[in-house]
Amino acid sequence: MTTILDGKKLSAKMTDELTQKVAMLDEKPHLAVILVGENPASELYVGLKKKTAEKIGIKSTVIKYPQNTDEKTVLDKINELNNDKNVHAILVQLPLPGQISEKKVIQAISPQKDADGITPENIGKISIGVEPYAYPCTPKGILSLLDEYNINIEGKHAVVIGRSNIVGKPLAQMLLNRNATVTICHSHTKNLTDIIKSADVLISAVGKNKLIKKEMIKSNSVIIDVGTSKVGNRVVGDVDFDNLFELVSYITPSPGGVGPMTIASLMENTYNLFKLSRNG
Ligand code: NAD
Repeated sequence: MTTILDGKKLSAKMTDELTQKVAMLDEKPHLAVILVGENPASELYVGLKKKTAEKIGIKSTVIKYPQNTDEKTVLDKINELNNDKNVHAILVQLPLPGQISEKKVIQAISPQKDADGITPENIGKISIGVEPYAYPCTPKGILSLLDEYNINIEGKHAVVIGRSNIVGKPLAQMLLNRNATVTICHSHTKNLTDIIKSADVLISAVGKNKLIKKEMIKSNSVIIDVGTSKVGNRVVGDVDFDNLFELVSYITPSPGGVGPMTIASLMENTYNLFKLSRNG
């Protein structure tokens, strides 16, 4: 029997809980989002984040810049937000236009206001097994989903496909911290099918429709589909869901799996960073 890992349902539960907690506060947490350019996917994601924040009672401010904005403008704004006591969490929507260094931008965000949990200090803390100010949203959402369904990954072979700084690498580290045996695959990996075949838990974060096919996977494995790409107007995942569904024990749908969990995790991070600003 295959169980669907219902990210939509769990994220709704998480946001309901947050709504209750935020209602008890005498000041509202404030998330500032920087969006540069007119990338339709980024605009969609920022819109969803803002809508969810408003529903919970979190204040959100979106700072929009045109595509040709220079790096200094963005770095200066981050510096201003870092020093603004009324802003508790900062998110820069990625990707950024080519003239702006993502690495410099990420390093400019204060770790105590790092809504996405991707600054060097937070990532470094995760690497040495210390609690960060915030965990990266997508990996955090994935682990929350595994926890909700009581999926124990200790000693299991977890294969992560994709090695980005926001998903693949931190996720691999977080799985390792939970005693999984972790393999990271990427575009240069030679024997991808053989590695996937031995995965008890497979997480695909690539963005290629039907990259993961029925004949590649191990029976009764757990499949987490992070990737998104477009087929016509439809947003699809990396996994050939319909054809391999019967074979696996747990699987995320796409949409309705990792996406809503990422947004709910961002809201949790914003709430936690607000609390940190009050207690720290
Ligand atoms: P990215 O887009 O920066 O990089 C893609 C990764 O895939 C790279 O590490 C690359 O080496 C690897 N890759 C490319 N082709 C491959 C192949 N044929 N075989 C194996 N690996 C290959 O990474 P990202 O920012 O982590 O995003 C990955 C995907 O996840 C994208 O589709 C993105 O839209 C999606 N995403 C979804 C959510 C969500 O909430 N659902 C959140 C973040 C990212």
